[in-house]
Amino acid sequence: MNKGLATQLKTLLSSKKRIVIIGHRNPDGDAIGSCLGLHFYLKKLGHYSNVIMPNDFPDFLRWLPGTSEIFNFEKQNQQALRSIEDAEIIFTLDFNSLSRVGDMKAILSKSKADFVMIDHHQQPDDYPIITYSDTAMGSTCEMVYHTIDALNGTENITPEMATLLYTGIMTDTGSFRFPSTTPTTHRVIASLIEHGAKNAEIHQNIYDTNSPSRMKLLGIALENMNVLPAFNSAYITISQKELDDNNFKKGDTEGFVNFALSVQGVRFAIIFIENIQESIVKISLRSKGDFSVNEFSRAHYNGGGHTNAAGGRSELSLEQTVKQFISILPQYKEALTQ
Ligand code: 5GP
Ligand code: MN
Repeated sequence: MNKGLATQLKTLLSSKKRIVIIGHRNPDGDAIGSCLGLHFYLKKLGHYSNVIMPNDFPDFLRWLPGTSEIFNFEKQNQQALRSIEDAEIIFTLDFNSLSRVGDMKAILSKSKADFVMIDHHQQPDDYPIITYSDTAMGSTCEMVYHTIDALNGTENITPEMATLLYTGIMTDTGSFRFPSTTPTTHRVIASLIEHGAKNAEIHQNIYDTNSPSRMKLLGIALENMNVLPAFNSAYITISQKELDDNNFKKGDTEGFVNFALSVQGVRFAIIFIENIQESIVKISLRSKGDFSVNEFSRAHYNGGGHTNAAGGRSELSLEQTVKQFISILPQYKEALTQ
């Protein structure tokens, strides 16, 4: 975080404020970790803070410190509305556009609070008065660490905060293996371990708690995988019936798309997950190298994200969505095979 931004933020936080911190719909480890990490820090500084998520988060994140304090906008609507109404400052973390908070968008758009964005997605919208956006960062949690460092130094970091920030950095960098992992990321991680993050326990809590039904679903996803060597691409489909037959719980399909990306020669991987309730196909896109799935998703799936990881949705049927995907792929042949 540069000095100008740090000064603006210090001024904003120079007296006690009523603060709300918001993550994106379908919050992941980085959204939960960054929002709760900042929440504990702001409370330590003496501010009044609440965390709101647009909907529920997956069970594999429930062990994280502070998750019981989160208001789920869908389930604790009144508490959430009241805190937004009272808020003097609203931090929006780990997303770049109010379209990522679903039904909360209309309420946030009416708020008179000062908005602060901390985020690493490409092409941020300009609703905040303070925008700390850095698309080179691997995670919002790393940015929260830099924010804390720029404000008062890192000595205020408690083991709870360290655990939260470590978790989001770990999940968004694919356990420190994506190109967004820098020497600075590793220095931040070292500092978080020094401040009490128990790294081995965190990895186990996140990655070694698979249910047998999730493993069955992974088997089906791998069975459904199609590799398209002519385009260095691979895709996976999962139908609603396959989800239903395997006791699907939120978060169960997280990371499945990476198996398609791990196939030798594949540079572009995509997973299509049918969601009958929302009448959409949820899409996750991943790539290696220069091929921008952010651009691909913006062009075809009403979504976006980063160069190598993006999300989106289709309103066609699962079958039609796949057909359409296969029909547009030739336009990208050169980009995918050069
Ligand atoms: P996932 O595939 O895990 O849902 O998302 C991959 C990345 O893209 C994450 O960083 C996520 O925040 C971002 N992302 C997912 N869906 C959307 C979307 O609809 N719009 C934008 N701008 N980013 C998205
Ligand atoms: Mn993130």
